[in-house]
Amino acid sequence: MISASRPAPAGVTVRVPAKVNLQLAVGQSGADGYHPLVTVFHAISLFDEVTVRSAEKTSLSVTGEDAAAVPRDRSNLAWKAASALVQAAGLRGSAVEIRIKKRIPVAAGLAGGSADAAATLVACNELWQTGLAPRELAELASGLGSDVPFALLGGTAVGRGRGEQLTPALAAGSYHWALAFGHEGLSTAEVYATCDRLRAARAASGDQPEPAEPELSHPLMTALRSGDPARVGPLLSNDLQPAALSLQPDLRRTLTAGREHGALGAIVSGSGPTCAFLASDAAHARELAVALTGSGVCRAVARASGPVPGAAVVRDPQPS
Ligand code: ATP
Repeated sequence: MISASRPAPAGVTVRVPAKVNLQLAVGQSGADGYHPLVTVFHAISLFDEVTVRSAEKTSLSVTGEDAAAVPRDRSNLAWKAASALVQAAGLRGSAVEIRIKKRIPVAAGLAGGSADAAATLVACNELWQTGLAPRELAELASGLGSDVPFALLGGTAVGRGRGEQLTPALAAGSYHWALAFGHEGLSTAEVYATCDRLRAARAASGDQPEPAEPELSHPLMTALRSGDPARVGPLLSNDLQPAALSLQPDLRRTLTAGREHGALGAIVSGSGPTCAFLASDAAHARELAVALTGSGVCRAVARASGPVPGAAVVRDPQPS
């Protein structure tokens, strides 16, 4: 419902974080082709920014990291998010200019597209003063993609189903990361298909099959409550990692380089190819980032910490 109590803002900017998966357990795909997941999402301080303004006609522009790889039409998840809100709120005819400033690399396993969709929902909800409650926004978000609800929520959370059924997790302290970005993106669909192929080959050779129902790692949850990265690091896990490594074998060198420089945990993030390295503190994350840059095993390196909140309106945006 449109509220008449506040004047409509001319434009709204929302900042939204990337995610890494501290655990990604993937079950056997069902008849619908989807894999049941249990995952521990963790929002990190690598942010995209989405600005929306009322317009005669909906349009979308993208600047920043990997901007050329991002679609600017209706297929962009941010555009789909705006359309979904128009539909849900009965605002037929409303149009919006969407500007995305990307810092989250594209097709990197960091859920950048999902982040932009979540940011657009929050931004348009504010711009149009639609007044949807967080629960209603979360419902719209899960219709847009499995990672979109978490980009709204942020923090650290367990995701089940396709990742959209969220429970906030108790995690103490702050975790410092070095992120190694790959030269080429990876298609999430291709990584899942490769995971299925590798599993089928293992089963055919008599290896124990993967459980159909994925399970949450309770040791990881206990370690997260302790706030001690040295306990968390060895418990990071990703069932998609073998598939990502088989598609991009050079990622092994990246993971090895991080471990050799003292990372407490080294893991491919989601469907990859970004590798995430857990450091003992901010200074160690800096050292790791410098060492990874020097080792030449990746395209670029960034530092980030988590957990951080989900998509939120920036009250005082810097002019672009
Ligand atoms: P996933 O969430 O599936 O793991 P990812 O994080 O690996 O994906 P994204 O950065 O979300 O990767 O990009 C996946 C694809 O989504 C891209 O190849 C791009 O064509 C498409 N896409 C649609 N909208 C966006 C957007 N706003 N930003 C980035 N990519 C987008």
